Amino acid sequence: MEFFKPVEFQNEDKKPAIEKSEKVKCLILGSGPAGYTAAIYAARANLKPVLYTGMQMGGQLTTTTEVENFPGYPDGVTGPVMMEDMKRQAERFGAEVRFGLATDVDFSGSSHKVIIDDNTEIIASTVIIATGATARYLGIDAETRYAGMGVSACATCDGFFYRGKDVAVVGGGDTAAEEAIYLAGLCNKVYMIVRRNVLRASAAMQTRVMNTPNIEILWEHQAVDLFGENGVEGAVLVRKKGTPEEEIRRIRIDGFFLAIGHTPNSEVFRKFIDTNETGYIKTIPGSTRTNVPGVFAAGDVQDPVYRQAVTAAGTGCMAAIDAERYLAELPE
Ligand code: NDP
Repeated sequence: MEFFKPVEFQNEDKKPAIEKSEKVKCLILGSGPAGYTAAIYAARANLKPVLYTGMQMGGQLTTTTEVENFPGYPDGVTGPVMMEDMKRQAERFGAEVRFGLATDVDFSGSSHKVIIDDNTEIIASTVIIATGATARYLGIDAETRYAGMGVSACATCDGFFYRGKDVAVVGGGDTAAEEAIYLAGLCNKVYMIVRRNVLRASAAMQTRVMNTPNIEILWEHQAVDLFGENGVEGAVLVRKKGTPEEEIRRIRIDGFFLAIGHTPNSEVFRKFIDTNETGYIKTIPGSTRTNVPGVFAAGDVQDPVYRQAVTAAGTGCMAAIDAERYLAELPE
């Protein structure tokens, strides 16, 4: 790794005090399955990748308990263990994993500048953005109180633990509909807690929800609290909140699933990188290439649809291969 005198950063209004500058061939941002898989492939291709983990080392999987759907783990594995395994695998081939967050970027030139923690400048020939997405929560205290004890933002990850039980899904979009239908196949009963009197989900998904007998939609309801001794045993809901007909209601549930959307962690790149209207990075179909040559995106930051660890890992692999080919084609 080459250290040299810091160049002046172009974002004049921010003026971070750059203490260190470094040139790398391949910079990876994010430490979920996409970032680590990209690191494994890039390291094995001798790109000497440097990976910055972001604030939540290991990504979203570190907040799930058991992962049972990642191929190769027949007995399941916990999210944190799987992420530690991926990290070690990347380091085994020479990837350098560092704690730090991308706080600014400048992708206007032929080499790509990324500022880490406001004080370190990385000049990278290729950048792989694998910064993931963050599930939205309602913001009620109970979500933190029961984190990992009945509150989840991923039905595909955690639904299996609620077989034969009663659960609730909050939200009325396609994700909520999809998760409610998935859970209905496993659980005794699924409540959909919908804040308006309509679903935002597509017509096809709405029909599927309506045709699933063990889903009950609680229209115009909002969850305000959860209760239970050693985990979620129920939810407190308010019907028609803020109207004269307002009414408090309690339901018995073992699992409380949030499906009110995800926020892709793409904010810092949006000055240069094209995103869709909800902030997901646009990639050129069939590749991980973004609109900026040499910058690639993998995992949930570019995927509003599948959002699985295994699909994130798959696109991480693609990004490293795309980066390697991009470097190979650069003029000497
Ligand atoms: P959406 O933004 O589409 O829907 C979010 C839902 O959560 C809405 O019903 C919204 O209510 C509700 N909501 C938001 N905030 C709150 C809150 N504070 N309290 C209660 N309810 C709340 O997000 P999705 O994740 O469902 O979908 C994101 C995108 O991905 C969409 O474009 C969707 O079509 C797409 N998608 C496609 C799939 C597919 O094609 N198979 C599968 C999953 C997603 P309100 O309607 O009142 O705003």
